[in-house]
Amino acid sequence: MQYLPNVLFAIALILGIGYFSRNVKKLIRNIKLGKSITVPGDKKQRWKNMARIALGQTKMVVRPIAGLMHIIVYVGFIIINIEVLEIIIDGLFGTHRIFAFLGPVYDVLIGSFEVLALLVVIAVVVFWLRRNIIKLQRFIKPEMKGWPQKDGNWILYIELILMFLFLTMNAADYKLQELEAAYYVKAGAFPVSQWIAVLFDGMSQGTLIALERSAWWLHILGILFFLNYLYFSKHLHIILAFPNTYYGKLEPQGEMNNLAAVTNEVKLMLDPNADPFAASEGDSDDPDKFGASDVMDLSQVQLMNAYTCTECGRCTSECPANQTGKKLSPRKIMMDTRDRLEEVGRNIDANKGAFVPDGKQLLDDYISREELWACTTCNACVQACPVSIDPLSIILDMRRFLVMEQSAAPSDLNNMMSNIENNGAPWPFNQMDRLNWAQESN
Ligand code: SF4
Ligand code: SF4
Repeated sequence: MQYLPNVLFAIALILGIGYFSRNVKKLIRNIKLGKSITVPGDKKQRWKNMARIALGQTKMVVRPIAGLMHIIVYVGFIIINIEVLEIIIDGLFGTHRIFAFLGPVYDVLIGSFEVLALLVVIAVVVFWLRRNIIKLQRFIKPEMKGWPQKDGNWILYIELILMFLFLTMNAADYKLQELEAAYYVKAGAFPVSQWIAVLFDGMSQGTLIALERSAWWLHILGILFFLNYLYFSKHLHIILAFPNTYYGKLEPQGEMNNLAAVTNEVKLMLDPNADPFAASEGDSDDPDKFGASDVMDLSQVQLMNAYTCTECGRCTSECPANQTGKKLSPRKIMMDTRDRLEEVGRNIDANKGAFVPDGKQLLDDYISREELWACTTCNACVQACPVSIDPLSIILDMRRFLVMEQSAAPSDLNNMMSNIENNGAPWPFNQMDRLNWAQESN
């Protein structure tokens, strides 16, 4: 019986980490459904980008208030969870505040965790107000209705509850230390929870122990729950922001990935010196399918982008198409890609590891042609994204499918492309007539 709590703790830990690992495997499998690509560029530059953008949060502070609050929550959450290490050791071996031997260092650590916890609570309240009372435009766009809106709030509630449990646990511990209760060694500094402890004045030692143990258990169970909630939430970005920024685009933003096969065709058509035999060699590189109509046609980086999206809406709030009332929202492009990928993943799970065609695809069932053609390819969404996501690349790949596989571009574009093909220019004039305007002016 003496070891029952330790056994229960070990079971909770194994279940929590086990289920999380299972979902991580699923996540990796889903991302690998995309095309593998060789990512060009300097590895050193990629590591630097990851350190600057994901760790340093440099793109977050472009909007100072949200950026500062986000840094507090991020740093607070990561640092406070260092305490989880102590909780795990205590839980497994039946010790209490195992790191108390650090003496003054321990006091500083616990004290600073508490200050950070208070700052996290303040930041979370501000975030909640922005979403629910101030109702910032980017949080109430159509794609945020339903689960995305609930998810955003759930994350805030869970963080708030975890911080309160942490402070309550410390407050009860502080009182028990004052009472010199057995097992509760004098350790730690409690600059915030000592004010909560005032509420516990007059409580018996037994009640305080029950309170401390309950808060301790709920805190660690809450952390395990939150860990597993990540896979189902936009909060997955706290992990994926790191690989995603590493694989972020290094080429100039306006640079599009031309297909070698198409480039050869165009050269043959426009360049009299082009070598036709070189072009036919390139034919062997012809892809099976031009562009993308479903998630399997996208690259693994694009699929990771979809899982990394924080649904912050910075891209949509900068998008000129969205600002002028068009249906396009780059955030929705990423959310739709993730939703479809999840659907494909569930299909594979239900069919013993093989995808069975379900008569659906990303194009039309999730992302409409109207959205795709509303894009001006301005790159504002790519520039605005705090975690290096590239919604434009997905739009371009889907447009490529429409043009090259279905000849389904809007008529204006089709005319322009026919003109280029026939006249070598976007205008409907014969090449011989190009300088007519000069004669007219004489
Ligand atoms: S590139 Fe397209 S989706 Fe992105 S901001 Fe510009 S118009 Fe919007
Ligand atoms: S793509 Fe980037 S900017 Fe847009 S909602 Fe997702 S994380 Fe935010």
